[in-house]
Amino acid sequence: MTRVSPQIRHAVLDRANGRCEYCRRPLRYGISRFHVDHIIPVERHLGSNDIGNLACACINCNSSKSSDIASYDADTRLLTPLYHPRLQQWNDHFVLVDGLITGITAIGRVTIRILQMNASQYDIELRQYLVELGLW
Ligand SMILES: [Zn+2]
Repeated sequence: MTRVSPQIRHAVLDRANGRCEYCRRPLRYGISRFHVDHIIPVERHLGSNDIGNLACACINCNSSKSSDIASYDADTRLLTPLYHPRLQQWNDHFVLVDGLITGITAIGRVTIRILQMNASQYDIELRQYLVELGLW
C-alpha cells in the first residue's frame, strides 16, 4: 500500500475539478468518497507518488482498474495501454452517447472494458439525467 500525503491528496482532488478523471462522474454524485489512483502502480509497475502519476478516481474506476495498466483491444487485438489522465485528453478517447461512455480509440475501448465504466445501469441513467439537466 502506497500512501500520499494529505496535501498531495487535496491537490489531486482539487485538480480534477470535482470529477473522476476516468469516467467523469461528478464527485457530488458519487456513492462514496473519491480515491487517489496511482495511474502507474508503484509496487507492481514502478510508478511513483509524484503528483504527475496520480489521478482522482471514483471507487468504481479505482477498484476495477486495480493495478492494471494495459489490456488487449477487442477490435485490433493489440496490447493497448489504459487511458492516462495526465498525458491524454478524455475527449480524444471517449464520447458520451445516451449515457454510455463509448471508446473512439483502442485506448478508450480498453479503458472502458477494464474499468467497467458501463457495467452499472445506475451510472448510465445518472449520466443521462445529468446531461438532461445540463450538469454533465
Ligand atoms: Zn470513475
